[in-house]
Amino acid sequence: FFEPEMDARMQARRRLEVDLRKAIANGEFELFYQPLVDMQTEYVTGFEALIRWHHPERGMVAPLDFIPVAEDSGLIVPIGDWVIRQACAEAATWPSNVKIAVNLSPVQFKSKGLLPSVISALAASGLPPNRLELEITESVLLQDGDATLAILHELRGLGIRISMDDFGTGYSSLSYLRKFPFDKIKIDQSFIFAMSDHNDSLAIVRAVIAMGAGLGIATTAEGVETPEQFKQLKLEGCTEVQGFLFSPPRPAAEVKWLLTSINPKLKVTA
Ligand code: C2E
Ligand code: MG
Ligand code: MG
Repeated sequence: FFEPEMDARMQARRRLEVDLRKAIANGEFELFYQPLVDMQTEYVTGFEALIRWHHPERGMVAPLDFIPVAEDSGLIVPIGDWVIRQACAEAATWPSNVKIAVNLSPVQFKSKGLLPSVISALAASGLPPNRLELEITESVLLQDGDATLAILHELRGLGIRISMDDFGTGYSSLSYLRKFPFDKIKIDQSFIFAMSDHNDSLAIVRAVIAMGAGLGIATTAEGVETPEQFKQLKLEGCTEVQGFLFSPPRPAAEVKWLLTSINPKLKVTA
């Protein structure tokens, strides 16, 4: 049976896809940047690039509302290529001790163009590879494991760091930690939000941090919003934090301000 609501949903999706196609050509995307803060020094050590879409009629569209459509249609490949180029070009203008983290979709790994795209973005921008971090989720490793691992090893061989994003939300992260030498584990924000009210979340956060320490992998807590969460994570030995406590994602023009910010919470290197 073909329900009318189903038809409406499909049409909305179709429209979004048509608009997305135009968005690339019309330059409607922008990258926002959110600081990553070292737990010990409380210095900003880098920024995560997070895409925003300025839709001509709908205004700002959040990534979770269009990335899935971009992935299904394959448009994430040209969009992702633009993201890497733009992020590297902007980061190349920042102080040389500040890194840039870029999110990758599983679909980009299937496209074969990922490695050339990263290499050419680094070459065009002049950004040293050790200032680039690529964030993947474990869904990347779920597909065609060997081919994906080969690409990851090549990227890491160039000196790029590889982070596992949203850790704890998938199925089999632990085996993936043995398959690939990740540089960083990002603990999903759902565990950080629940930490104060649920002992089980705190126990999981504590275990992941300890595991990271044992494996020599840095741990970043995502979604840190309160000083209490920050204190608790410091106590547990987490190495890096990211969240609204320091800053939400902000436009590129504000990066330098964030680095030298009057915000007394941030003691920054720049
Ligand atoms: P992510 O990579 O896990 O990024 C972190 C998300 O958490 C961002 O949402 C950020 O704004 C949000 N966040 C950070 N700190 C806090 C906090 O303290 N509290 C709360 N409530 N949220 C916080 P955003 O920008 O909406 O991005 C959502 C997701 O979309 C990202 O999750 C990532 O998976 C995806 N995404 C964003 N940009 C890109 C991109 O360029 N390429 C790809 N493939 N995916 C992207
Ligand atoms: Mg991320
Ligand atoms: Mg995440």
